[in-house]
Order: sequence, then C-alpha cells, then structure tokens
Amino acid sequence: MISFDEARSFVLSRLEPLAPVERALAEAIGLVAASTVTATEPAPSFVNSAMDGFAVRASDVTSATRLRVVDSVFAGETSAAVVGDGEAMRIMTGAPLPVGADSVCPREDVIVEADGQYVRIGRPVALGDCVRHVGEDLRVGETLVRPGDVIDPALLGALAGQGVTALSVQRVPLVGVLSTGNELIDAAARPGPGQIRDSNRPTLLAALRQSGMATLDLGIVRDSKADLRAAFERARSTCDAVISTGGVSAGDADFVKVVLGELFAESARSMQVAIRPGKPFTFAYDESSNTPFFGLAGNPVSTLVGFELFVRPALLRLAGRRDIERATVSMVLDCDLVRERDGKIHLIHGVCRIHDDGVIHVERLARRGSHLLFAIARANCLVLAPDGDGATIGDTVRAMILDDSQLNAITESARPR
Ligand code: AMP
Ligand code: MG
Repeated sequence: MISFDEARSFVLSRLEPLAPVERALAEAIGLVAASTVTATEPAPSFVNSAMDGFAVRASDVTSATRLRVVDSVFAGETSAAVVGDGEAMRIMTGAPLPVGADSVCPREDVIVEADGQYVRIGRPVALGDCVRHVGEDLRVGETLVRPGDVIDPALLGALAGQGVTALSVQRVPLVGVLSTGNELIDAAARPGPGQIRDSNRPTLLAALRQSGMATLDLGIVRDSKADLRAAFERARSTCDAVISTGGVSAGDADFVKVVLGELFAESARSMQVAIRPGKPFTFAYDESSNTPFFGLAGNPVSTLVGFELFVRPALLRLAGRRDIERATVSMVLDCDLVRERDGKIHLIHGVCRIHDDGVIHVERLARRGSHLLFAIARANCLVLAPDGDGATIGDTVRAMILDDSQLNAITESARPR
C-alpha cells in the first residue's frame, strides 16, 4: 500500500495546464484566464461626478449659501466654463468635474432659484463629496487577471472597461468516460441474469459537468484486453483525459490495469492506496498525446471517492485552475464515527450544516459500503477519518465540502440514510 499523499502527488506532478487559446472577451465568461492582464488605463479615467447635482468649491459652501450657476455639463460632454468663487455648475452623474470645482452637492440637497440661474445649498459640503477620482478602482499597472482566475461577469466588465476585446484562456478539458465489465448494460436495457445497469458512467459524466468539464461518453467496454486496448487508443486521440471504471483490482477479468500497463509502460502505475473505499487505482500518462488515464475502482462509491480525491483536482489542473482543492474544514460530529484500525484513511460521506453559532456540524454519516450508491446521494461532505479507532459525538473531524450550496438548508428528507 502507498499513502494517499504519495498517490496524489504521483498523479498531480505529471500534469500541467492544457495549451491556452484566444477567445473573444464575451466568450470568456466562466473560463480560466491563461495569462496576466494589467491595467493600461486608470479607472475611472477622469475625475467625474458620482451624482446628479451641482459642482461647487467646498470652501464656498456654508449654510444657506447662494451660488450662481455658470453652465451645465452632462455625461459624455465637457464644459469650457470654470467654477469660480460663488459659482456652481449643474452636473450629471459621470460628467467630468469642471475646472475650479472640487466637490458635488447632490440635486436633492439644493433649492434651485431664479429659473435655474442660482442654487441655494442648505448644508456644508465636504471637500471631495460625490466626486469619483482617477484610478480609484484600478491604477495603471495594477493586475486585473492572473493565470488561473475564473472570469466572472464583473471581471469581464472591468476588462471591457480597459478596452480588452480578446483574452488568452484555458480550453475546457474534454474528458472521456468508459465503463468496463461484462455484467454491464445501458440504463435503457433490461438486465438478464447476473447483469446490472451501468451507473458509474452517468455518475461520472454528471460529476464532470458539475466540475465544469466537457464530456465524451465512451460507452461500455467488455472485459477483453483487445477491446480495452482499442477503446483506450481511440480515446487518447480524441480526449484530453480519460476515466475508466472497473477492472483495476485483483479479479481474473480485471484487465484495465494490465492494458494501461502495456500501452503506457513508462508511466502506468497500479496502486494500492491506503484509503477506503477506493484502494485500487491505476494512473497512466500517454506522453505522445499528453493524455492522462485514470483507472478507477468499479464499485460505485469507490468510483466517486476516487474521482473526488484524484481525478477532480487533476482535471482542474489541466483546466489551468489555481485552486484545485475542495475546501477541507473542521467539523463537529453529531454522531459516532465507528471504524477500526487498518492503516487506511476512511472516506465517509455525510451531511454537514452550519449551526447558528457558525460552527459546522456533521449531522449525519451515510451508511457505508462501496456498493451503496443511493446511501451517499445528497451527501454534502466527505469526512476524512485518519487511521485509528474512530471518533465520538462532539469530536472534531476534518471533512471535504462537496456541495456548499446546501450548507445552511439541508432538510430532513434530503439526508442520506
Ligand atoms: P470491478 O472493479 O470491475 O471488479 O467491479 C467491482 C464491483 O463494481 C462489481 O460489483 C461490479 O459489478 C461493480 N461495477 C463495476 N462497474 C460498474 C458500473 N459501471 N456501474 C455499476 N457497478 C459497477
Ligand atoms: Mg469489472
């Protein structure tokens, strides 16, 4: 057996982000930036008004000051007039602050007199009030985007504000998924004796989508070396990464590890990782096409745990993401965690919830069994139970947050059994 950390670094050390591509800015939403972008212009780029109102000199305005209105300035215009002593200029939001003025008094705080020729301001104006300054949001040379940043709408808008029209981004990895096993049939088919419907492929295709990957369904492959070899060879020319399930443990029909070992003798490694579930795991890397192959164990819970621990972070690295880890945080157990000492880290699905005091509690642990897929449905965390005798109610454990969208609102019916 090798440690979890060793297995992970074996995988991750071999992977680098895919080659970047250029995309129109509008197409970059949700994509990962591949290069640094720095501000070439300050934002705001000129001093302007934050309000509709009157541009004034703050030192002029005491209580009940009457000022002469010298001009009006709208957004998109400039005024050649200067605001002198005892003067004001009507100004709209976004219009450049006129020469001589240093502050803006909002329209609602003034009384307009003599048909707009004068204004009376009923309160003092602080220097710089309602004025937007050059570079307040971005200074020239400031970094807007670093490689690995996900482009969100505000960032995209800020880039547009800088005149950026195209961007170097990471391609979304295309990940192929195949299931192996002579017992497997498609969901639409009726199982004959000893047959089961393939649940790993739909599970993985869904998990990949949730992680922002593009997917390619490579179907079910029989436990035949020739079929597996052909499937892997096809996959390496079409996919950025390939995941298979089944065929990596000690059974007489477990050919995935054999075939990956034959195809990619330099890099393939069949591991017995000190985790439960998910102990057997094969990783291989095709140097000629830069394609990683993940051979996950076939039991459905093992498949998902292997995906979470090894595949997802690896794919996020291919996708150029800086943060490839799920948040792993301390949680208080609301139930006993029973396990025995066996030299392995146990991964146990559970439901966690933030309590009113801000402390996260594991309120429930799912029934354990690598074949009990429904038992982990709607779990939102994966407790990492280190080797030992387990833990009891009130103890603190570390757990990976799988889905934080429901942290505050798990209902009774949505709890794993
Ligand atoms: P294996 O790793 O191929 O020995 O498979 C281990 C267990 O997982 C066996 O009970 C298989 O029937 C089951 N299994 C393998 N692949 C799948 C799959 N795609 N969907 C559901 N169960 C599977
Ligand atoms: Mg099998």
